[in-house]
Amino acid sequence: MNKKEIIDILKAENTEGVLIKADTIRRKYCGNIVHLRALIEFSNFCKKQCVYCGINSKIKNVIRYRLSENEIIETAKKASELGFKTVVLQSGEDDFFGTKKMCSIIEKIKELNVALTLSLGEKTKEEYKAYKNSGADRYLLRIETTDEKLYKKMHPNADFKNRIKCLYNLKELGYETGSGILIGLPEQTVDSIADDILFFKKLNADMIGLGPLITHKETLLKNYPCGSFELALKALAITRILMPNINIPATTAMETLLKEGRKIALKSGANVVMPNITPEIAKENYSIYPNKQGINALDKIELENLKNEIISIGDTISNDYGTSKNFIAQKHL
Ligand code: SAH
Repeated sequence: MNKKEIIDILKAENTEGVLIKADTIRRKYCGNIVHLRALIEFSNFCKKQCVYCGINSKIKNVIRYRLSENEIIETAKKASELGFKTVVLQSGEDDFFGTKKMCSIIEKIKELNVALTLSLGEKTKEEYKAYKNSGADRYLLRIETTDEKLYKKMHPNADFKNRIKCLYNLKELGYETGSGILIGLPEQTVDSIADDILFFKKLNADMIGLGPLITHKETLLKNYPCGSFELALKALAITRILMPNINIPATTAMETLLKEGRKIALKSGANVVMPNITPEIAKENYSIYPNKQGINALDKIELENLKNEIISIGDTISNDYGTSKNFIAQKHL
C-alpha cells in the first residue's frame, strides 16, 4: 500500500472490505488469540503540557497522586495472581521516580515472572538502558503525530526530534517498542495520518496503539470535537494490513467513544486489551480524558465479561507473555 492508497482508504465511506481483510491478516499472523495486559497508572504528576491531556502540568483541577513503591509492587503482584502475564507501568512524566527508584521497582516486578512494559514518556538513553538492564521488556511511547508543525502546537516546550530519537533509542536498546498516534487532533489531515502509518513501518514498531482524541473540559481543546471512531478504526486496520505481525491494542479511548468500540476494534485487526488494575482511589485521578471506559481488572464480573466477549468473536485468551511476533522475528535474524 502506498501513501495514496492509504489516503484513499482513510477517506472512503465504505471500508467493510478493509476491516475484514485486517481481521483475516491478524488471525493468520497472530492467531485467534487476544493478549491481556494489566495496566497500573502509578503517578499522574506530569511536567509536560500536552494540550489535549487532562493531567498536563497546567491543569489545576486535578488531584495529583503517586503510588508508593510498595503499592506499585503489591498491585503488580495482584495482577500476576489474577493470571496476567504482562504488567504495564504508565505515568505522567514524573521525575520523582528517579532512575534508581524505577530500577528497583522494575527488578521487584520482574521477580513475579511477568513481562514488563513501561510507558513513562521521554527519558535519556542512559535511563532507558538502566531500565532495560533491570529487566524491563517493552516500552510504549506514542509519537502522537508525525506532522512536526502540528506536534509543536500540541506539545508546547517539547521537542519533536527528541521524541523520535527516544523511539530509535528504545529500538536500539532492544526493547519491544510501541508507538502510536491520536486521531482527531485539531488541523490533523488524512495526509498526515498516512505519513504516521508509514512512520510506524519505517520505525519497525513492534506494537502500535492508536485512539481517537477525547476532549477534556479542563484543557485548551475543551470546545473542540472528539476524534472520529471510524477514522481511528480505518487507521488501525490499515496499520494491521501493513504490519501483519505486530501487537495492536483495542484502546480504551475507542471503547469510550463508542459502545462496543473495543469489540469492533478486535474484529478489525486489534489483538490486545489492557484492563486497568490501578487502585480505585488513584485511578479516577488519572483523567487524561473524561469518562474512561476501561475494564476494571479487579472486578471479577467485568473480567469474566471481557473474556466472554473475546470468546464470542472466535478468540481465546493468551496464556503466554504475548511477545510481539514482529519482535521475535527480528531476534531470529
Ligand atoms: N507520559 C506518557 C504516557 C502518556 S498517557 C507518555 O508521554 O508516553 C498515554 C496516551 O494517552 C498518550 O500517549 C496519548 O496518546 C493518550 N491521550 C492523552 N490525552 C488524551 C485524550 N484527551 N484523548 C485521548 N487520548 C489521550
